[in-house]
Amino acid sequence: MKNDEMKQKIEEICEELEIELVWIEVGRNCANRGKTCVRLRDIADSGDFAVALHEIGHTHCDPDKEPTTPRETLDAETNAWKWARERNGGIFDSEGWKRLHESLRQYYYAVMDTSHPAYELLMEAQRQNGDIRPRIPSFASEINIGGKVKQTSVNLKAACGPPATVSPLLEIRCSTV
Ligand SMILES: [Zn+2]
Repeated sequence: MKNDEMKQKIEEICEELEIELVWIEVGRNCANRGKTCVRLRDIADSGDFAVALHEIGHTHCDPDKEPTTPRETLDAETNAWKWARERNGGIFDSEGWKRLHESLRQYYYAVMDTSHPAYELLMEAQRQNGDIRPRIPSFASEINIGGKVKQTSVNLKAACGPPATVSPLLEIRCSTV
């Protein structure tokens, strides 16, 4: 798809889902759950397109309560990326995977749990795009300090319900610019 086609696609998805869309020239991509609004930088490549889908995913997947721990934040980021991937037919191109990895790994580093669904998503990104750096080691023993593998309780299906209605002041900022 060309850039203007991707931009149009994002506009169509927002219209379909009744999400307000604001194209911004400065600032970060973000989703405001309370207003079901997304603010997005212009689409300059297929990576931007993946990020835009991810932001829309936040309006659909985020929990009612604002995340307060690194694990809850990672849950929300993972769910929004999974939503984006599903919405795109289960695939990203190499630029999309790169942007997923750049963003998600920052949240993953704060948790470092190979049993979290984020880990599988990051591994998939590394399989799909061999140029991604830095790479997360694919062995659990290298990642889980102390050798402990914690279980995650997040239920991705349950977490992805209708848009949450929370304080309109609540903004989720993503470091995906
Ligand atoms: Zn995000």
